[in-house]
Amino acid sequence: MSSLFAHHVLLPQGWTSNVRLHWNTSGELSQIELNTSAQIHENQAQFVVPGMTNLHSHAFQRAMAGMTEMAGEGKDSFWTWRDLMYRYALHITPKQLQAIAAQLYAECLRHGYTAVCEFHYLHRDQDGSFYARPAEMAECVIAAAEQTGMGISMLPVLYSYADFGEHALRHDQRRFSTNVAEIMQLIEALDGKRNGQVEVGVAPHSLRAASMSQIRELVAALPAARPIHIHIAEQQKEVDACIAYSGKRPVELLLDSGLLNERWCLVHATHLNKAEVQGIASSGAVAGICTTTEGNLGDGFFDLPDYIEASGRFGIGSDSHVSQSPVEELRWLEYGQRLRLQGRNIASVTGQRKVGDFLYQSALQGGAQASGRKLGQLATGYRADMVVLDDAHPNLAGISSADLLNTWIFAGNDNLVRDVYVGGKLAVQNGKHLQQDEIQAAYGTCMRSLRSL
Ligand code: ZN
Repeated sequence: MSSLFAHHVLLPQGWTSNVRLHWNTSGELSQIELNTSAQIHENQAQFVVPGMTNLHSHAFQRAMAGMTEMAGEGKDSFWTWRDLMYRYALHITPKQLQAIAAQLYAECLRHGYTAVCEFHYLHRDQDGSFYARPAEMAECVIAAAEQTGMGISMLPVLYSYADFGEHALRHDQRRFSTNVAEIMQLIEALDGKRNGQVEVGVAPHSLRAASMSQIRELVAALPAARPIHIHIAEQQKEVDACIAYSGKRPVELLLDSGLLNERWCLVHATHLNKAEVQGIASSGAVAGICTTTEGNLGDGFFDLPDYIEASGRFGIGSDSHVSQSPVEELRWLEYGQRLRLQGRNIASVTGQRKVGDFLYQSALQGGAQASGRKLGQLATGYRADMVVLDDAHPNLAGISSADLLNTWIFAGNDNLVRDVYVGGKLAVQNGKHLQQDEIQAAYGTCMRSLRSL
């Protein structure tokens, strides 16, 4: 099977009816046939949209979802959550990581994500030494992506310091420890995995964990056009610490470095002043907004209206995986702003008043850019990553395509994703991942072991 007839499909020019999408054996769209008609026995779908990129993931954290929602003695915060996360991270084996990532990616595929950017920092063995193959943990995550059919941009994370000012890592950060030379070796070790489904970029963890001179060295050493991601300005405490250390705010410091451009994804960018909003937008970098995790961790609100006004680019990520659904990420991105501003229909522009359409299309473009891969639109030369929505669901009864994205995003919690193709290969059929049973069995074994720790 290498074609799909779509009665209605979201193309770059907008919703279009009676289209046949063709793809080649490498999983790229090879022809978009317009104004055609369905053949009786051909593969058909009522509503087709491009698959979404999940631009920020720490796959192993899927295993902790739901386990940190209990109040401690003092005031709980991001930082107390992080301590718990570290304790968990210290136990995970390569085999367990692969089982967790496969479960996560299968869930993400079932909800309409077809690509992930994996911000991967669990590099070393439990005792802090490298595995015999230093890239083993990253290879396990890529294997999980390959097993499930998820497209992946693997981003090995540079993690050298515990805080601003090049403080030595804590003992419980030993699995993350890397310097620039080690990261470049990991990237080289993974280079043979690159293909239409797999890209390899890099991620300096944050301005806390990597120094500006390291980041410069890393960017200079990285092959051209590879994506670069960084956590930035997620918490007010981080902003304050950056000012105390450098006299500048985190995004200000990055902007002043002159390094930012379209290869960059600034993950979170929650705490921005007006100049920083303008600066990110002008640089062409993507803001990686992770609404459900930011809500879960109490990070704060991204300044979406000003950023949209400045024509800033953005995408969405599920980060700690308290949600695996792009619908929930996008819905809460809008709802957070409504609650904050006591208004409605915030994410829209003059040319696109429909909030669901504006959010989905923006996140498609931002996510694709952040992935460094040819994604985010159903056009010749791009990946054949397609999501077929369930036209038999009551929410879509009699609907016109013009109302489809708003209804998908803002009407209820049933999963409306029916089939998912990634690189032209079917990964999800009738709402079920093709290897769902075996993936869940392996995840169950892994979780019974982890929960008994
Ligand atoms: Zn993160």
